[in-house]
Amino acid sequence: NRRIVLVSRPQGQPTPHDLRLEETAIPEPGDRQVLLRTLYLSLDPYMRNLMDERGTSYAPAVPLGEPVVGGTVSRVVASKHPQFRAGELVLGNAGWQDYALSDGEDLTALGEMPQPSLALGGLGMPAFTAYVGLLDIGQPKPGETVVVAAATGAVGAVVGQIAKLKGARVVGIAGGADKCRHAVDELGFDACLDRHDERLAEQLAAACPDGIDVYFENVGGAVFDAVLPLLNLHARVPVCGFIAHYNDDGVHADTDRLPAVTAAILQKRIRMQGFIILDHYATRFAAFRRDMDEWIASGRVKVREDVVDGLERAPEAFIGLLQGRNFGKLVIRVADH
Ligand code: NDP
Repeated sequence: NRRIVLVSRPQGQPTPHDLRLEETAIPEPGDRQVLLRTLYLSLDPYMRNLMDERGTSYAPAVPLGEPVVGGTVSRVVASKHPQFRAGELVLGNAGWQDYALSDGEDLTALGEMPQPSLALGGLGMPAFTAYVGLLDIGQPKPGETVVVAAATGAVGAVVGQIAKLKGARVVGIAGGADKCRHAVDELGFDACLDRHDERLAEQLAAACPDGIDVYFENVGGAVFDAVLPLLNLHARVPVCGFIAHYNDDGVHADTDRLPAVTAAILQKRIRMQGFIILDHYATRFAAFRRDMDEWIASGRVKVREDVVDGLERAPEAFIGLLQGRNFGKLVIRVADH
């Protein structure tokens, strides 16, 4: 059983030295436990936060010496649990390892899916985040302008496509010309700007002549600076994430933008709302699955995956995610069946 454990807490950008591949025995399931074989491992930005000692508001830090946590699609290899059979495909949280035990509490049976990795992306947590954040908090109306960064990523690509379905004008921001071309040509965005361009603020102003009604916040940093002056009266800002700051080590704290942010929220009556997707499964997941199943099946929403082969490549792929090297929903293919 190979597993990748956290050996030191990253200072700023994680390095391969913070993570170690280990070999351990394959565990034996006890009473009411199942043994899982990981097929796909989801890599997501929140894992960076769980590498810090403080963890997050919704999950504790990964203990040193333990496998990094992560959502997985797994095959049940052996079961001593009444609800699960060997051979079944399940969604769970086995983390960065080949095999894991579960008491079944965190498992969802998937049935047979032609593309099981979709349960980690286009039909799973990231797309659900896009759905709730955009529709429930952002509430785009036909003709309004929606802006989203990390625009070709797991969340951003779905935000933009749902906003188009709702009749909005969508401006994406992404890292590089290839991603921007994909956002416009494949995903149907009206425009997409390269976040590495020094003139991003001017270009965004030009691309949003009527201002911005919904800014779906994924990144923070320089993108937020470019967006803030363009927000319209009564703009909505679902605050989903701020990946540009996940590697901040506190030493180079950004210049303080808080006064400008507060003034804009007040004067423009902006609603800026944070949300953690875990709070919304009970009330909104069924509607999401009904809509998303249909949109993906009909081709109205396209899902691009960035599949990397081999558990041993999870560290470099994860470090790349924090630098924008992924192109689409990043998943590790750990095993074929
Ligand atoms: P992505 O698939 O979009 O991958 C991350 C992307 O972030 C990179 O590809 C890169 O895209 C972009 N990025 C990286 N560094 C920077 C930077 N310094 N400045 C701007 N952009 C950067 O990830 P996800 O779609 O999974 O996640 C997107 C956001 O949603 C994250 O902030 C994540 O934490 C958040 N999230 C929040 C949830 C919640 O419950 N609130 C649930 C799920 C996700 P590019 O190079 O193209 O700019």
